[in-house]
Amino acid sequence: MSTDDDDYSGEQLSGPPMGYLIVIGPCFGCGKVFAFSAQRVPSVVVEGDRRPVCADCIEHVNPMRVANGLPLFTPLPGAYEAGEE
Ligand SMILES: [Zn+2]
Repeated sequence: MSTDDDDYSGEQLSGPPMGYLIVIGPCFGCGKVFAFSAQRVPSVVVEGDRRPVCADCIEHVNPMRVANGLPLFTPLPGAYEAGEE
């Protein structure tokens, strides 16, 4: 009779989460703290940093972007989903 006494000293905590990573942070446009998908949220690059933009601001700025000849922000599905489906 033998005992398999494997020494699991560390759990696997570093694997990727299921789905996508939800982050909570302030909107670049209005400062409102909101939850968003880090990979999907529309963002603007300010001094090399990506700053998330909330859905309200997207709606607000899109007409101005069109007026300035810039591409529309088009949030991807799930960009603002804070929970599971
Ligand atoms: Zn905003």
